[in-house]
Amino acid sequence: MDFDPPETVKPLLERIEKFVADVVIPGEPEVMERGFAAAAAHLEGLRAKCREAGLWGPHMPKELGGLGLSLVEHGLVSERLGRSPIGHFVFGCQAPDAGNLEILHRYGTPEQKARWLEPLARGEIRSCFSMTEPENPGSNPTLLSCTARRDGGDYVIDGHKWFTSSADGAAFAIVMAVTNPDAPSHARASMIIVPTDAPGFDLVRNIKIMGDEGSGWGSHSEIWYRDVRVPEGNRLGPEGAGFLIAQERLGPGRIHHCMRWIGICERVFDTVCRHITRRRIDEDGKTLATRQIAQAWIAEARAEIEASRLMVLHAAWTIEKKGFSAARDQVSLIKFYVADVMLRLVDRAIQLHGALGITSDTILAHYYVHERGARIYDGPDEVHKMVVAKRILARYP
Ligand SMILES: Cc1cc2nc3c(=O)[nH]c(=O)nc-3n(C[C@H](O)[C@H](O)[C@H](O)COP(=O)(O)OP(=O)(O)OC[C@H]3O[C@@H](n4cnc5c(N)ncnc54)[C@H](O)[C@@H]3O)c2cc1C
Repeated sequence: MDFDPPETVKPLLERIEKFVADVVIPGEPEVMERGFAAAAAHLEGLRAKCREAGLWGPHMPKELGGLGLSLVEHGLVSERLGRSPIGHFVFGCQAPDAGNLEILHRYGTPEQKARWLEPLARGEIRSCFSMTEPENPGSNPTLLSCTARRDGGDYVIDGHKWFTSSADGAAFAIVMAVTNPDAPSHARASMIIVPTDAPGFDLVRNIKIMGDEGSGWGSHSEIWYRDVRVPEGNRLGPEGAGFLIAQERLGPGRIHHCMRWIGICERVFDTVCRHITRRRIDEDGKTLATRQIAQAWIAEARAEIEASRLMVLHAAWTIEKKGFSAARDQVSLIKFYVADVMLRLVDRAIQLHGALGITSDTILAHYYVHERGARIYDGPDEVHKMVVAKRILARYP
């Protein structure tokens, strides 16, 4: 068993670490201050540097202009990019575009690839994924109500969605809609590509997340689809295959998220170590780092980060070697475990920073607000725990 990153990617990882430290992190403040939409030109400048450095699209197949990394290799990259809230965006491998790119590459027709996939891969356009509805439980999407009925050679889509991340400024949405209402629950829905300038596509608002409505890529929108007409040729994959394709999208997506969260953990860990070794707390000039309560926490956090990384890389390795279904339990375990490790780490780091921790003078408050959703999206904790526990307990008849 070799725990070292493969020799083939080691130099790449070193270059990426350096690029993140020298270019991405110094480029953060403008985006944090102004928001993604207003900082678009600045972000484009950072992306241009990433392309020049030959680092664009680590997850993308080479024929699309990417680096063609495997799941484990991209996991290692994702951790390094996760050290900055703009890391994945600068490298062109941000959610939800990365997942959309994957399914367009696998299921897209030549026309869909030319119109949507290729400009997406080049970073010229953005996309979003529109499945969750305010009126129905996102944790059981088979209950969704949005419909796409056939009319001549078209689909006509009607429905109400929310939490469509990054819809603001996106060129198209991949919409999950019921096309086969009488089919079994997992075969009722299809994925349909909807250009955001189609008549009837109504972006109602960017939803405020703990007071911040965000903008551009960094936003989550409520959308009404009212009699939106698109040609049948905009369906992605076979009719009724929406959930099947969604599962394929979520498997690798959860690995990428978990590795990104580990990158966040490392950034937060560094931030807090730096702070407590400097912060004097008594008349003798001793620092917070001399207190056992802080030391115990540092040791526990280190153990949790190390455990998380091993679990996630093992899950990615299992998917690569044995396929997604062999890794199903592992993927559920990492999804709730790593999200919990990250969020407890962020919360305790804020505590150790005192009042400074809740200001925007450090990165901690950003993570506290914008990463809380990690325990909810891509399957809430409770659903993953239930699924794993049921499978384990079934072995005890
Ligand atoms: C930051 C963020 C980004 C998102 N981006 C997107 C996106 O781009 N596109 C998109 O379509 N959706 C997106 N979502 C929506 C996300 O997929 C849903 O929020 C998620 O599936 C949960 O659905 P829900 O919010 O309707 O909660 P519900 O399904 O109503 O569940 C609420 C709570 O009930 C509990 N629960 C649910 N089911 C069970 C159960 N079986 N047993 C026990 N407890 C249970 C859990 O605690 C859960 O958190 C995003 C969400 C967030 C927070």
